[in-house]
Amino acid sequence: MYDYVIIGAGIVGLSVAYTIQKKQPDAFIAVLEKEEAAALHQTGNNSGVIHSGIYYPPKSFKAAFAKNGNRSMITFCEEHEIPYEQCGKIIVATEEKQMASLQNLYKRAQDNELTVYWLEEDQLKEREPHVKGVAGIEVPSTGIVNYKTVSDKLAVLIQEKGNHIFFNEQVISINENDEVSIKTRKQTINGKKMVNCAGLHSDRIAKLAGYHMDMQIVPFRGEYYQLKEEARHLVKHLIYPVPNPDFPFLGVHFTRMIDGGVEAGPNAVLGLKREGYSKMDWNVKDLTQVLVFPGFWKLASSYIREGTAEMVRSVSKKSFIKSLQKLIPEITENDIEKAPAGVRAQALRLNGKLVDDFYIVKGKHSLHVCNAPSPAATGSLQIGEEVFQRFQES
Ligand SMILES: Cc1cc2nc3c(=O)[nH]c(=O)nc-3n(C[C@H](O)[C@H](O)[C@H](O)COP(=O)(O)OP(=O)(O)OC[C@H]3O[C@@H](n4cnc5c(N)ncnc54)[C@H](O)[C@@H]3O)c2cc1C
Repeated sequence: MYDYVIIGAGIVGLSVAYTIQKKQPDAFIAVLEKEEAAALHQTGNNSGVIHSGIYYPPKSFKAAFAKNGNRSMITFCEEHEIPYEQCGKIIVATEEKQMASLQNLYKRAQDNELTVYWLEEDQLKEREPHVKGVAGIEVPSTGIVNYKTVSDKLAVLIQEKGNHIFFNEQVISINENDEVSIKTRKQTINGKKMVNCAGLHSDRIAKLAGYHMDMQIVPFRGEYYQLKEEARHLVKHLIYPVPNPDFPFLGVHFTRMIDGGVEAGPNAVLGLKREGYSKMDWNVKDLTQVLVFPGFWKLASSYIREGTAEMVRSVSKKSFIKSLQKLIPEITENDIEKAPAGVRAQALRLNGKLVDDFYIVKGKHSLHVCNAPSPAATGSLQIGEEVFQRFQES
């Protein structure tokens, strides 16, 4: 009998296991993962940014997980010699009408007690000579890392202490009574407590355990291009537009990667399959569940303009490059080539509202991390702390 069974070996599940292991060294822990390796879904296909927390409302989990997670992720990388770089990020207002939103962001950075610098046009040019903008904010604490590397290290540290990670073990049923009995395609595993960290399938796992919520995971594919080697000099930091405050994603941006590459993206289009990475991927069950969910149609009607623009950007390289040219006018279609896509798990309520913050549902002996959007990779070790704390309180 395990003390804790964790479903999902993405960065959240592994961080939860690792944090419990540190806090309660005598706990016996199992992690169940349906794939053959860790971090093959959201965690292994993200932008690799160690966020700062500038965007999020003060007192939200997002703000706290990003700010504290920025520090704990960097400390973890230093302790375990994982390459990272605190290269900083610049948020750019490309036109006068974005100035009010940029000022709001600057104010939010103060509210979140972050060190940031306001950049006038000439200072912006100094930092990013190829960027065209009227003003910017520099966020020095933002960094980059490969979260698959972090996850693989977490997996090693978990196993080194005698805890177990079972790969190729898809959870298919859960029975929660005096203990939690979890059936995979190969075996039944019992635990005193269970944590659902199943990312794109977290709502389905919660349902298997008998928890029905007024929300559902909707997959949003994020497509990337990468800059060809000869164009990488155009980007010195991470370069972001001023986000649309009503839209949950950050807008296409330039991200330096820890391996030396530079990615441009991601956009956000409805995924036709929860773990479908190509445009042609679709799955009857996944798609039907979205289309019969009333919240989806309410969401679609509220974001008709943004949604259409994202879809156009998805099929037209010309349109994608136009968005990028707003930040770096000299970039051309010849400077970029397609890169692999990622799929975000975003919880959507029946009323059509996106669940903006992290959302953890409490069961009898279980906790279900039902919405862990960006900055969950940055804040994964903090999510581990939060989960451990909640078990202590129950
Ligand atoms: C395109 C994109 C860009 C992003 N950029 C950033 C960024 O720059 N910085 C940042 O901090 N965050 C970013 N994020 C968000 C971040 O990557 C995710 O929030 C985070 O990786 C979520 O981790 P997770 O462990 O919850 O999910 P996942 O990594 O998806 O892991 C869930 C795991 O559960 C397993 N699983 C599911 N169902 C079962 C089952 N039935 N049985 C067993 N196992 C199961 C899956 O196989 C998977 O391995 C981005 C996300 C995307 C998609």
